[in-house]
Amino acid sequence: MGKNVIVTGAARGIGKAIALRLAADGHDVAVNDIAANRDEVEAVAQEIRAAGRRSAALIADVSDEDAVNGLVAETANALGSLDVMIANAGIAQVRPLLEVSVADWDRMMAVNLRGTFLSYQAAAEHMIKQGNGGKIIGAASIVAYRPFALLGPYSASKWAVRGLTQAAAMEWAKYGITVNAYCPGIVGTAMWELIDEKLAESEGLRKGQAIAKYSDLIHLGRVSVPEDVASYVSYLASPDSDYMTGQSVMIDGGIQFS
Ligand code: NAD
Repeated sequence: MGKNVIVTGAARGIGKAIALRLAADGHDVAVNDIAANRDEVEAVAQEIRAAGRRSAALIADVSDEDAVNGLVAETANALGSLDVMIANAGIAQVRPLLEVSVADWDRMMAVNLRGTFLSYQAAAEHMIKQGNGGKIIGAASIVAYRPFALLGPYSASKWAVRGLTQAAAMEWAKYGITVNAYCPGIVGTAMWELIDEKLAESEGLRKGQAIAKYSDLIHLGRVSVPEDVASYVSYLASPDSDYMTGQSVMIDGGIQFS
């Protein structure tokens, strides 16, 4: 049975792959990202409609409380309900902790942690009113278990997403809402292009060499593609995961073991 889903940060990368995979699974999908990516958001929504599912292209900055509440309300208006929230939006920054400014720190926490909190909270409020339970899914990371040097605030934000996911799972179980997170490892997206470029700069490597160096850690022997993550999120969004809550599971090709 198809559900009504929001995917935040779905203009590209992992979020886009999740949105397309969930549409292929038979769900209707509200595609969200920031205003700067309006064309890409609309293109993903069009691709979903072309595949025969309903979709809405909804611009909202997940760090903004009113915008997130609006996103949930607009999704319910456009699709009829909200059954699954995927709080995927996130940003990364490569910078030594000694050079991280308060503004850097606040921006990271505003998007990755406050944005996830607001997405979880707005979805849960709506799902509780609907009275049919629901599924809330967040983007953590391998760094929620083992931080990367030079990604300190990012690692802290994702570690906190893991904690938030556990607390939310405990508080909302009584409403039939499950809360889980996915922890990608090294996925070849725009985010890792940036990480590679900045790590290479700081380690005296050429573009492409940092990701190659870190990829040596992957036991399955290849960098991840967004579809690796999307297939796990497909499971989390399905009734097959109904007895699972509070978990943050690594989909990293075997870099780190929980
Ligand atoms: P990406 O940069 O390719 O895509 C992230 C999307 O989120 C972008 O379209 C961006 O515009 C959007 N976004 C950023 N700030 C936003 C905001 N305030 N409101 C709404 N949308 C916003 O990154 P990705 O690699 O696809 O990562 C997706 C998620 O997975 C992120 O949370 C990231 O931290 C996490 N993750 C990625 C990797 C990886 O290796 N790429 C590893 C672990 C975790």
